[in-house]
Amino acid sequence: MSVQKRTSKNVLLDTALKNFYAAAEEMGLDDGLIEVMSRPERAICVSIPVTMDDGSVKVFDGYRVQHSTVLGPAKGGLRFHPEVNLEECEALASLMTWKCSLAGIPYGGGKGGISVEPLELSMREREAMTRTFAARIAPVISDWSDIPAPDVNTGGQEMIWIMDTISKLRGSFEPGVVTGKPISVWGSKGRNAATGLGVATCIIELLKAQNVPVEDATVIVQGFGNVGTFCAKYMAEAGAKIVGISDITGGYYCEDGIDVPAAMAYVAKHPKRILEGYAQPGLVKMDGGQILEQKADVLAPCALEGAINANNAAKLNVKYIVEGANGPITPEGDVIVDERGIIVVPDFLANSGGVIGSYFEWVQDLAGFFWTEEEYNGRLVPIMKDNFHRVWDYSRKNNKKMRRAAFLVAIKRVADALQMKGIFL
Ligand code: NAD
Repeated sequence: MSVQKRTSKNVLLDTALKNFYAAAEEMGLDDGLIEVMSRPERAICVSIPVTMDDGSVKVFDGYRVQHSTVLGPAKGGLRFHPEVNLEECEALASLMTWKCSLAGIPYGGGKGGISVEPLELSMREREAMTRTFAARIAPVISDWSDIPAPDVNTGGQEMIWIMDTISKLRGSFEPGVVTGKPISVWGSKGRNAATGLGVATCIIELLKAQNVPVEDATVIVQGFGNVGTFCAKYMAEAGAKIVGISDITGGYYCEDGIDVPAAMAYVAKHPKRILEGYAQPGLVKMDGGQILEQKADVLAPCALEGAINANNAAKLNVKYIVEGANGPITPEGDVIVDERGIIVVPDFLANSGGVIGSYFEWVQDLAGFFWTEEEYNGRLVPIMKDNFHRVWDYSRKNNKKMRRAAFLVAIKRVADALQMKGIFL
């Protein structure tokens, strides 16, 4: 490879570029393709003026990056966070390209957001900011060009404001311009559980591939929010024993198995949606670090990035890690986990049920015809199984770690399409 490798002072972008170049080199990818794929197709910065409640005017910085539209419209979230910047959006957009490619859905990758502390805004200020942002990125988003979705600190409410702003600007109803909308406003039944169901499907397929009966398997789930609860629920329904769960309030261990429906019902009723105070016979409360060191077959980290790192990777007592969260293992942690022979199913495969679910929402919006939850899940599970086995088979055949195998499979699909299309415009 003789291309001038790009680097960045932004750690996320620098890591994304390093991973891409390493995989591209291993594949023997053409230099021209590397040059094209290592850059975003389009990155826009917008100023977002907002009249605040006290009458003053504040201007926020917003971004939308389309890393690739080779396989279809760019797809990816919008985050509202003080640390949002152009480089971070570029890195996350490229990861969406690989995630959508690996998922086998007809999307490229995008990401965007606003540099803001959303907790400091009133509801009116938040709406004004979101709608002005939507208007300023309107030239580059549409149901067939770039489809934003929720991410950190954004949700159904922001998606409705964006859909409504774009619809009014264009004089036509545009539900397919964003996904992650509430069910009552062209959202989709099943989306809430999709990521956790996808993580559980990967765990079940991995156990089968390792000849471990699901009914004999023990699982620890870190994080009991959207992804973690549904992962635990579907694993328990499949017959596995969930011996540990955790959230921000600590770890909850039970050798005989956590009663997952009871824990979910407890959290749903708790005003803060937390496990604090949850009790059942045989339950042992421990801290959040300790729960990760308990013995189990599978650990599903479904909370935060960096949860498994150089400090705790050597203390894990599991055979498999299936990454529900984004980036739950640091690069240093990954080396230790790998040396210990723990098999890792990487995030952009394991948690892709979320983006596949977004694709289902878009398909239903374009058709104006909605599926039942059974239809939704009935389509999601086979796709997750196929995707898991595509990476698993490649990794076994070529003696590669799952993470590298997933990268290689994902990059190849984009590279093949780019080669056939050529690089005109
Ligand atoms: P969430 O906010 O619903 O839940 C997060 C959970 O993690 C909460 O239970 C919280 O208490 C817990 N938590 C926070 N800090 C913790 C700690 N130190 N130890 C243990 N638990 C802790 O978030 P979510 O939507 O479930 O997302 C979780 C992860 O999955 C994130 O990395 C997210 O980017 C990723 N992800 C989510 C989706 C999705 O569809 N929701 C899709 C793809 C990836």
